[in-house]
Amino acid sequence: MALIVQKYGGTSVGTTDRIENVAEKIIKFRKAGHDVVVAVSAMSGETNRLIGLASDISDRPTPREMDVLVSTGEQVTIALLCMALHKRGQDARSYTGWQVAMQTDSSHMKARINNIDDHKMRSDLDAGRVVVVAGFQGIDDNGNITTLGRGGSDTTAVALAAALKADECQIYTDVDGVYTTDPRVEPNARRLPHITFEEMLEMASLGSKVLQIRSVEFAGKYQVPMRVLSSFEDQDVNNPGGTLISLEENDVEAPLISGIAFSRDEAQITVRGVPDQPGIAHKVLGEIADANMEVDMIVQNIGDAVTDLTFTVHRNDHDKALEIVQKLGEELNASEVTSDSTIVKVSLVGVGMRSHAGVAAKMFDILASEGINIRMIATSEIKISVVVDEKYLELAVRSLHSGFELDGEAAA
Ligand code: ADP
Ligand code: ASP
Ligand code: MG
Repeated sequence: MALIVQKYGGTSVGTTDRIENVAEKIIKFRKAGHDVVVAVSAMSGETNRLIGLASDISDRPTPREMDVLVSTGEQVTIALLCMALHKRGQDARSYTGWQVAMQTDSSHMKARINNIDDHKMRSDLDAGRVVVVAGFQGIDDNGNITTLGRGGSDTTAVALAAALKADECQIYTDVDGVYTTDPRVEPNARRLPHITFEEMLEMASLGSKVLQIRSVEFAGKYQVPMRVLSSFEDQDVNNPGGTLISLEENDVEAPLISGIAFSRDEAQITVRGVPDQPGIAHKVLGEIADANMEVDMIVQNIGDAVTDLTFTVHRNDHDKALEIVQKLGEELNASEVTSDSTIVKVSLVGVGMRSHAGVAAKMFDILASEGINIRMIATSEIKISVVVDEKYLELAVRSLHSGFELDGEAAA
């Protein structure tokens, strides 16, 4: 008998029929003798609908009230799922974030989980109940409702699994695993039966939105085995398939490249003709950091007396960052400040890169042969990222996918 934490995402609970389907799935695991704790998302589209309501009323609602608002979506799903379980004769109890004491810090809309009280859940499990917890939400030390950031139910599930020392954390979604790249962009993407935490963390951080970044961080830190599965397929309870995310590397046949991630959330700011002297990069990037924006890639050209500095930020921060740099540009006597929010980042990820040279050269060659101009490059031990024009995103992903021989059978 195992203890399994399962998470069902928005699409998987998008209608009452789908909620009934989830109940059937849970009961299959119960019948096989497993204890099950479930985290659920709001029904698909609901969180966006709630955000829309807020923006009808205010341009700048307070983060505290936003959390009170958006956390309501998950409360609907936990109750409906328990009703579907009860109808099938399975005892179950629903809990909101505060009821299970999903204790977080006070950073509204991006709170971090500090502690979970597993008391109630344990006694429910002992009594043969399924425990259904609202994803995405928690409570801070002052009793305020918090939420964990978009996609946060993944992190709720992993945190529950860590707290309960579950045998596995299963993330049920609308694809049957983690693919070599987003199957919506490359229909020839292949499901990966296995990926390491390290690779998954890079994929998520570089834009693959199949899992929230923090959920992978959490799973890696507490060594919770995670599995991504389809909620629309019927799994064998003892051999559920999907993609297993765990510590071990796939030693012998570690592929050179495991996947291709991409991000559309990018914008670039360039300041030209500033004095080439110590302290300039610090001045520009320091002000951006002070304004609470994250800088991703940075390129500085080597100049004689003057230099150019280019960096990228999240696309939502473009206007704010540009305003700051325009002001600084005047102070520093820059010849020009420009920006572009029609850029994207495409990244190759793979632990196999550690032991192989030439991946970058091959990547640049493939992109060049498609006539795609590379604007910026960044590398680390297990990834290479390039910034290209937005219009080339699909072409870049697909040509790299086939160039690095990742193509498989067309995904369903
Ligand atoms: P949920 O609502 O279940 O949390 P998400 O929409 O957050 O589901 O995540 C699933 C989606 O992630 C898929 O529909 C797919 O388009 C996207 N995705 C992006 N990159 C990948 C990838 N490498 N493998 C699988 N899915 C991916
Ligand atoms: N409902 C939240 C969102 O849409 C959390 C989640 O689904 O994980 O972001
Ligand atoms: Mg998600």
